[in-house]
Parts: sequence; structure tokens; C-alpha cells
Amino acid sequence: MTKGNINVSVENIFPLIKKFLYSDHEIFLRELISNATDATLKLKHLTNVGDSKVEFGNPQIEVKVDKEGKKIHIIDQGLGMTAEEVEKYINQIAFSGAEEFLDKYKDSAKDSGIIGHFGLGFYSSFMVAEKVEIITKSYTDAPAAHWACDGSPEFTLTKGKKKDRGTEIILHIADDSTEFLEDSRISALLTKYNKFMPIPIKFGTKEVNVALPEDAPKDAKPEKKTVDNIINNPNPAWTKQPADLSDEAYKSFYRELYPMQFEEPLFHIHLNVDYPFNLTGILYFPKMSNSDMNIQKDKIQLYQNQVYVTDNVEGIVPEFLTMLRGVIDSPDIPLNVSRSYLQADGAVKKISSYITRKVADKLKTLFNDDREDFEAKWNDIKIVIEYGMLSEDKFFEKADAFALYPTVDGKYYTYEELFNKIKANQTDKDGKLVILYASNKDAQHSYIDAAKAKGYEILLLDSPIVSHLMQKLESTKENITFSRVDADNVDNLIKKDDTKISKLSDEQKTELETILKEVIPSEKFMVQLEPMDSDASPFIITQPEFMRRMKEMQATGGGGMFGMGNMPEMYNLVVNTNSELVSEILATKTKKKQERLITQSLDLARLSQGLLKGEELTNFIKRSYEMIK
Ligand code: ADP
Ligand code: MG
Repeated sequence: MTKGNINVSVENIFPLIKKFLYSDHEIFLRELISNATDATLKLKHLTNVGDSKVEFGNPQIEVKVDKEGKKIHIIDQGLGMTAEEVEKYINQIAFSGAEEFLDKYKDSAKDSGIIGHFGLGFYSSFMVAEKVEIITKSYTDAPAAHWACDGSPEFTLTKGKKKDRGTEIILHIADDSTEFLEDSRISALLTKYNKFMPIPIKFGTKEVNVALPEDAPKDAKPEKKTVDNIINNPNPAWTKQPADLSDEAYKSFYRELYPMQFEEPLFHIHLNVDYPFNLTGILYFPKMSNSDMNIQKDKIQLYQNQVYVTDNVEGIVPEFLTMLRGVIDSPDIPLNVSRSYLQADGAVKKISSYITRKVADKLKTLFNDDREDFEAKWNDIKIVIEYGMLSEDKFFEKADAFALYPTVDGKYYTYEELFNKIKANQTDKDGKLVILYASNKDAQHSYIDAAKAKGYEILLLDSPIVSHLMQKLESTKENITFSRVDADNVDNLIKKDDTKISKLSDEQKTELETILKEVIPSEKFMVQLEPMDSDASPFIITQPEFMRRMKEMQATGGGGMFGMGNMPEMYNLVVNTNSELVSEILATKTKKKQERLITQSLDLARLSQGLLKGEELTNFIKRSYEMIK
């Protein structure tokens, strides 16, 4: 048997790091600024615990672009490194000084906000630089050190001349990466990744107006002065306590996050846990309309210790909440793993269910505290809530406390209120509670009117996924069924007064059926004769509730609805045998005239269901003009 070590040489690893370590070359800047931030936070911590005698002051990080010299400088005033420390931390790839620091100061440094983790960040600079220099002076008395490396495993380490503490990293930008020598590119990167990092970051200078003294003459021109251009807000709202933030502060942070967004958010949820995982953040409910469910996704930004990571929070935030906006910051989310692994990760699952619970609790509080206001916002938030009820059982259970069911008359019921309201007079023959709803007030106007006349309560349910939600409610709540006002099973309700006497004899009914069948295509309409009030419409088209809903669910996707084939268009034609028009049809002797009466009535019924279109509609209008001439 032979035993041995697999020999991984640095020579082989180096080009690999350069090529594959990070898919995005631009993140080198984020990594170097993270290191500069860590160095500053470490010094702050050492000062706090009395391990450093230096004056901490107000350190900042500076980024400088030297386009002519093809260099980028990143300069910090952190704890710096001795020559020995450079050997230890820089020359050993994958040895993280951040990890070591956190280990050493364990409890006290837990909340220091130190970012580094894997000991690989520094080498990302070789993705864009052909040579990297480190000039660093430790906060201790040790002399400065100067390290340089041209991307081969060889490096030089000499004494440096630097007098003040801190580190300067110099990147000699490679020819294939000169895009990073543009101020605009660097400025955009800083805004993207570093906008909320905890140490002030200076990039160039800017001119600002000096405030004029109060007694200045009216036409006095404000004087300009040049100040440091600080690109970040080191104390973003999510790092503060909710008690220290006003409503206006939350809104102004929203504008900071989305400068191009002019609409104000409806409300916010402040997230804050430290056990069993660390997470802070603020989520905002934006105004949301029915149509743009998908465009609205991917607006939540994910941070780790105030460093921007991504705006793809899939797997971390439950799907239905990806329509919200805001920030989540957690050092505990493993980001170096694949998304599918992420979804299986226990910690991440806990984060996801914590967020769901927080959102549900907040909605409940809002509902209880100011119901009127909540009702006014319902239309803009219902998509998220209904989507959540569908996709997360936990949320579904909690939603009973705040999910609303609006009526066509602008009332809003909770499920329980609705139940109590209709239980007395909206049951069908089998004793099932029938919840009537309309999906479009205009299109179903005549049906709504008819149902209202019977004293029924009609909901207005018009979001795109509501058919799925009804299916879910029917299977979880006991003994209920939803019926659109123009659906066939509404007849079961309306017919409750079954005692209505038909004006027609049985022979007349048979005769009527025969006449109707000759004119009305049987593959499209199932004809039913019903004795209704004489002033109710003579012809009414209804659609089987079951069939329409299947079609809707097919259209909006989901739940095993695929591969069902195309359902045929099938309608019921309810003919009111007590109407005068039907008597007239029966009494008419000429076949032609009889046919015309039926066609015209059928078209009117189709028209009121919005089913008359194109050529058929044109013909109908022509025919109608002929008739009134
Ligand atoms: P990580 O940040 O994950 O520890 P890096 O590869 O980014 O790994 O950096 C390696 C180590 O080099 C850091 O942990 C730190 O000890 C040291 N280092 C890097 N940049 C600086 C800096 N600007 N000031 C002081 N030390 C630094
Ligand atoms: Mg690092």
C-alpha cells in the first residue's frame, strides 16, 4: 500500500482563481473595500477592548483612479499589517484573517460586523490586475511593509516607507480590464455594492453650495466649496432600532433604495432577529396592480453585513414575498452554494418561515389597528396575500385574521363575517353554503342585479389567481362552494322558490323544445326550460362553474392542470317559460318569424355575457336596425 498527499501546487491554482473563482470580475472592488472595512472595524474593536493605544478618530476609505498610470488605489486607515502578518494572511491563499480574528475575540466581536470569511477575497484583485502592490503600516510600532506580486506565485516583500497606519492596495489594471479605469464605472460599482457599508468611502470630490448668512442680499450668489464625495450611507435604516425611526425615516430610506421610484410604499415591516440566526432588514409593500405580477419581482436586495450581494432572493424569501421591496441583511445565508442546495438548507428554511410569520403578524396588526385604512389598501396588496394563501399553508391559516372578501357594493368581509352573513339564506339543495361572486362588475351587471334582487351578497373577486384560491378555500373550509353570478349552479339557489308554476303545459314544453332545437346549435348550448318570474329575461346564458374555473386555472397555470387538453366551450341556455316572449315564440305561425325571434333572443343573451363578437356581432346589429325601421 502506498500513502501520500495529493500535491496541489500554487502554480496551478493561481490561474484557476483568476478565471473561475468569481464569475463576475467586477466584485474585486467589493472584496477590497470589504477588507478595508474589516481592517477599520478590527481596529475599532481593538480600541474598544483596550488592545490598541492609537487614536481611532474618524477613519475613512478612499478609492482613487489613476487613468494615465492605469492604476486603482484603495486606501484605508485600519489596523494595517506587519511584514509577518502579510506573510501569514496574504501569502497563504484560503487562510482567512477575518475568521481568525473572530475566533480570537469570539463573543465580544460577534456583532462587530466583520465581513471576511473564506480568505479568498483579496486574490480576486488578480482578475483585473496584472500586478498588485500592498503598502501597509501596522497600528503597532512595527515598520511598514511593501508587498508586490505580478500574478505568478512569486512575490517580493520589502520594507515600506509608509508613516501613518493603514493599508494602500495598488492595482495595476490589466489591458483586458481597462473599463475599470473609467470614473463612471467605478462610481456605478460603488453605488451598487457599497452604498450602505459601515465606514465612509470617499471617491473624488464634489462642489456644494455654502449656505448664505441670513442677512445676505437677495441677489447674492451662493458660494461653492469643494468637499469629499462620500458615496455611502454608513448607518442605513435597517441597522437601527424601529423605535428610533419615524414613518418619514422609513419612507426616505425607501427613496434611497429606489431613487427612480416615485410612488410611496404602503407600509413597511422591520425584521430583526438574532436567534437562531442573524437577520435584519426592512420590507416594503409597494402598490401593486393586477397586471404586472412578474415585472415586480426581484426588487429585494440581499446584504451581508451591509455589503450588497444580490437582488435575487429566490429560495431565501418565500416566492410570494418576492413581489415586495426592501433589504435583507444576514451574515448567516450561505451564498457560495447553489440555489437548490439553499432551498434545502435548514437555516435558510427557518429564515424563510420567519419572514412569512413576520409579514402575517404585521398584516394582522395593521388590520386590527386601523381597519378602514387596511380596507382602502386592500386592492393594492391582495395579490401578495392571495398568492401567499395559495402557496404557504402557514400563511393561509394566519390569513383568516386579515384576508378580506370585498363585495360588489364596496363592503369588506373577513371570511368569518361573510360566513355569518350568508349562512341563513345562501345554501343550495344539498345544504352547501354558496358564495356568490362576480369577476367583472360591468360584464356581469345583469346577473349581479338579478342576484341582488334576491337579497344575495355578491363578492367582487377579480385577481388573476382567484380561481386557484377558491379551489383551495373549497377544499379547506367545510361545505362551501363558490359560484360566479352567471354560473349554472346559481340556479340551484335562485330556484329555492321551487313552487313557481309554469304557464306552459307539458305538451307546450315539448313543442317549445323541438322548435328551439331546430335553431340553437346543440354542440354549443344545453337548453333548459325554467319557469321564472315573467319579467325576468327570456333567455339567460350561464356557464358551468366547474368548466369555467378549470379553464381559468389552465390559463394561469399550476396545480396539475396541464395536459388536460382543450376544454370545449359549453354553455347553458336557460329559457324562461313564463316570459311573454316565449309565449309569443310558441304562438307564431310562420317558421321564418319564429326562427328570427329565437336567433335575436339568443344573440341578446350572448351579448349580455360578452359572447357576441366579430361577424356575428355585425350581423346582429344590422338585423336589429332592420327590425326597428
Ligand atoms: P478574508 O477577508 O475572507 O479573511 P481575504 O483574502 O479577503 O480573506 O483577506 C485575507 C486577509 O488579509 C484578511 O483576513 C486580513 O487579515 C488581511 N488583509 C487583507 N486586506 C487588508 C487590509 N486592507 N488591511 C489589513 N489587513 C488586510
Ligand atoms: Mg476579504
